[in-house]
Amino acid sequence: MTAEASYRRHNRARILEGGPIAAEIRSRLSNEVRSFRDRGGFAPTLAVLLIGADAPSAVYLHQIVRSCRSTGVTGRVVEMGERVTTALIRRRIDELNRDPLVSGIIVQMPLPRRIPLRAVIESIDPRKDVDGLHPQNAGLLSLGYEGFLPATAQAAVEILKRSGYRLEGLDATVIGRSNVVGKPASLLLQREHCTVTTCHRRTDDLPGHVARADLVVVAAGSPGLVTGAMLKPGALVVDVGINVVGDRIVGDVEFESASKVADAITPVPGGVGPLTNAILLEHLLAAARAQHGE
Ligand code: NAD
Repeated sequence: MTAEASYRRHNRARILEGGPIAAEIRSRLSNEVRSFRDRGGFAPTLAVLLIGADAPSAVYLHQIVRSCRSTGVTGRVVEMGERVTTALIRRRIDELNRDPLVSGIIVQMPLPRRIPLRAVIESIDPRKDVDGLHPQNAGLLSLGYEGFLPATAQAAVEILKRSGYRLEGLDATVIGRSNVVGKPASLLLQREHCTVTTCHRRTDDLPGHVARADLVVVAAGSPGLVTGAMLKPGALVVDVGINVVGDRIVGDVEFESASKVADAITPVPGGVGPLTNAILLEHLLAAARAQHGE
């Protein structure tokens, strides 16, 4: 019996695993990457800029590089030390912008505090900004036009859609308002015709907003922030958090209690994370095609 079937038998939430959906995407992508390579003579490269060392970021990085390998894409990790200057980072990004083999550039976050994120992000060519963080892509998202979407936020919504849930009309509460996850997730849920409440650290009544929600997306970086007792019975729960607690990786939702109340829940690890990487590679291939006039 699969984990999902076993949970449902015991009257628990359906577990929405990202792995199988990601595997499907990767298998289609590897065919498409092969035929792109046959036509163009090269495989697209994803450049991953790593500045300094940070535990959750390193976990994410390894997953991305593995995903690249499994689809025939080149993953190039560009490491820059903790003490690198903003000017040097911008120069390195400019070289990647001009490199015809590099189709996409992402920057691992968080950056060291003294490096202004905006200066780094704005130096990425918007056509290579496959994680949708450049102001041009963020603007396109907020206006509802086509552009690169932040992959994690897209994965948080896609995991529900690809698991067969209709989102139209749902009351959705998003916890977190970062430019990388919370804000774009809120915008994408509006696109899906949800009624969206965005919560953050200064929200007065977080439990009240969670209790009313048919759908809760949690992207706060705070382990155990949402418990089963806070949820509306039958809610859909998407846990985006990645937290290293001791030697374990946990999300922002207390899985054990939440899975007794929710209708469906994404696990951590194994939920949104794997799908994020597959979506990022979809963006990479789209970028490569666009840059080569396809
Ligand atoms: P961030 O620190 O930039 O933003 C966190 C947001 O959550 C802020 O808006 C903050 O106001 C809000 N918040 C924090 N604590 C809160 C609380 N107690 N109550 C209400 N709101 C609270 O983080 P981020 O970059 O948006 O990432 C969020 C989480 O998602 C992190 O755990 C990160 O590791 C994870 N993440 C996962 C993936 C993935 O692929 N699954 C990708 C990127 C980030």
